[in-house]
Amino acid sequence: MAKLIDGKTISTQIKDEVKAETEKLKEKGIKVSLAVIQVGNDPASSVYVRNKKKACEYCGIESLSYELPESTTEEELLKLIRDLNDNPECNGILVQLPLPKSINEEKILDEISPLKDVDGFHPVNVGALSIGKPGFVSCTPAGVIELIKRSGYSIEGKECVVIGRSNIVGKPMAMLLLRENGTVTVTHSRTKDLKEVTKRADILVVAIGKPKMIDASYVKEGAVVIDVGIHRNEDNKLCGDVDFESAEPHCSAITPVPGGVGPMTIAMLMKNCLESVKLQNRV
Ligand code: NAD
Repeated sequence: MAKLIDGKTISTQIKDEVKAETEKLKEKGIKVSLAVIQVGNDPASSVYVRNKKKACEYCGIESLSYELPESTTEEELLKLIRDLNDNPECNGILVQLPLPKSINEEKILDEISPLKDVDGFHPVNVGALSIGKPGFVSCTPAGVIELIKRSGYSIEGKECVVIGRSNIVGKPMAMLLLRENGTVTVTHSRTKDLKEVTKRADILVVAIGKPKMIDASYVKEGAVVIDVGIHRNEDNKLCGDVDFESAEPHCSAITPVPGGVGPMTIAMLMKNCLESVKLQNRV
């Protein structure tokens, strides 16, 4: 039976570490704060925003809440971001996606100061990651690295295959595995003979967005399999991009859905908020 990689426990460990650090900073008179901006009231976004604020509270991070109406214009949102960029009381800025269609998401994300971009989406931070400079890293792939390392698996020298090449998961995932000295292959929807590639993987990270697509036939015996996907199935139950029942007996370790990668994203956001204080040279 494969070892279950426990994202719940590991994410709590990380949040506890952040909490201890924020307490130390508070003693020195330094506050950590995160501005959370939501435009409109998409129910899924409201749940994510609520969870992020709850995590802030747990970690001793002050959350500055901006709940803006659906009718907010691009110019108004840009102005708020510029104000927050200049506001020394705010050291992280998060804009909950998706934004209403009338607002250009890319323009908004690019306006966030790279020093406050705790989601790690700004081109400056993406570039920094690719050349190994300090900066913010996208939370979900950063969480995957923590899951692998804290579960006792080494990445160095391993055949690592990433399925998916999105800007927020697949691409930064590949850069991070490379930074850890893995031998990295990125696959995507145009990859020929996907199985032939994934069967080589000692570490297989799956971020496709297709429920249960990856079954045992894609997995090398003894691989570590990380499932980034999140879906609701016909019975309203959560499942991933990996067919857990089929793949699990062939893995040495695997993340469950829920309770694997999911909780790590917010924990890494909290870690990035802490990091923002350092990047802004406040400590
Ligand atoms: P995306 O749709 O932006 O990208 C999917 C990628 O998969 C693309 O690069 C595409 O080329 C590739 N792909 C699609 N079909 C394929 C196929 N048949 N064979 C090989 N590759 C294929 O998705 P994303 O934003 O990267 O998210 C991926 C999954 O991860 C989704 O299920 C999403 O819900 C989940 N996700 C979870 C978290 C979390 O916190 N756990 C965070 C972000 C995304």
